[in-house]
Amino acid sequence: MSQPVWQALFLDRDGTLNEERADYVKNWSEFVWLPGALHALAELAGYGAPIILITNQSVIGRGIITEAEVQTLHTQMLDVIGEAGGRIDGIFICPHPPDAGCDCRKPQPGLLLQAAAAFGLDLRRCLFIGDTMTDFQAAQAAGCPCVLVRTGRQGAQLDAALGVDGRRIIFDDLAAATRYIMGARE
Ligand SMILES: [Zn+2]
Repeated sequence: MSQPVWQALFLDRDGTLNEERADYVKNWSEFVWLPGALHALAELAGYGAPIILITNQSVIGRGIITEAEVQTLHTQMLDVIGEAGGRIDGIFICPHPPDAGCDCRKPQPGLLLQAAAAFGLDLRRCLFIGDTMTDFQAAQAAGCPCVLVRTGRQGAQLDAALGVDGRRIIFDDLAAATRYIMGARE
């Protein structure tokens, strides 16, 4: 029987699972799945590792919506993921505004460290899937391998930001990254 290569899969939210909004996702009606993301989550559920959401939600610290409202949104999101055959095993949120100087807002590695402690993970053996250079930097700071998808606000700029060596770790979307992950077994 093949074993998963990665101990856990970390997923960013906005730009990776759902469409990023310049004015933030404030309620369920503004949460728009990216094409193929829901199906990809269902496939990833078969990978055999915890799937953990790692998300900056400065919308809380900016006073636009409350932490409870984000939790309500996530309950609705998890219901839909479950109905589609997927699952998310943990959600780690940085609620702080950018100027708070916290150690959990990506590109800081704090959320990954929290998740590693909670799930007993070796971050060198986990994989982060995000859409921005801050995701990439947070993973690097935590010693965690990372792949990126082009569905977020940085899109095609990622190729230039990461350079030639980085191109092989950039996928068009979560579905493409999922095909890579599901093939990574030993
Ligand atoms: Zn924070």
